[in-house]
Amino acid sequence: DPRLQGISDAIRVVPHFPKPGIMFNDITTLLLRPAVFKDAVDIFLERYRGMAIDAVAGIEARGFIFGPAIALALGAKFIPLRKPRKLPGEKISEKYVLEYGTDCLEMHVGAIEPGERVLIVDDLVATGGTLSAAIRLLERAGGNVVECACLIGLPKFKDFYKLNGKPVYVLVESR
Ligand code: 5GP
Repeated sequence: DPRLQGISDAIRVVPHFPKPGIMFNDITTLLLRPAVFKDAVDIFLERYRGMAIDAVAGIEARGFIFGPAIALALGAKFIPLRKPRKLPGEKISEKYVLEYGTDCLEMHVGAIEPGERVLIVDDLVATGGTLSAAIRLLERAGGNVVECACLIGLPKFKDFYKLNGKPVYVLVESR
């Protein structure tokens, strides 16, 4: 797909951010190019139209940029999966392990009906820890997770691109 090169080129790689040794994939430069932003959303839509997706769950924060665009075009609901202490209502939480310490994702109770078909969206998959927590959260709520979709995958962790038996669909690999 010739659009993928444009998407890869539009992502800025920033060395030593947010700390020394990390190569950070910055998607804000892609957002400044509406034709490329649209290409990325279109490729996801070409894949997920016809898959009867009921809900798109976006992971805070960059899953909130791509997720709603996909949800609206599919006619699906959008569910924000948030970092701790942001949601005001009754919620369920799922912890996950990071390189140093742990983090947590939360979702409102009642956001999903049992059996609804869910697509999880984030900007980047590295170890897969974040997506795995999102899958567990949605499955605990009765959701049927169809797939995870990310713009970027880190090739170093390619073995993890199938999480808890769920496929991860990646547009481009990190440079
Ligand atoms: P994982 O849990 O797969 O190890 O890490 C993925 C999470 O970390 C995603 O929520 C993603 O937004 C964030 N992340 C880690 N590294 C990067 C990066 O280089 N660029 C961006 N945009 N996000 C990153």
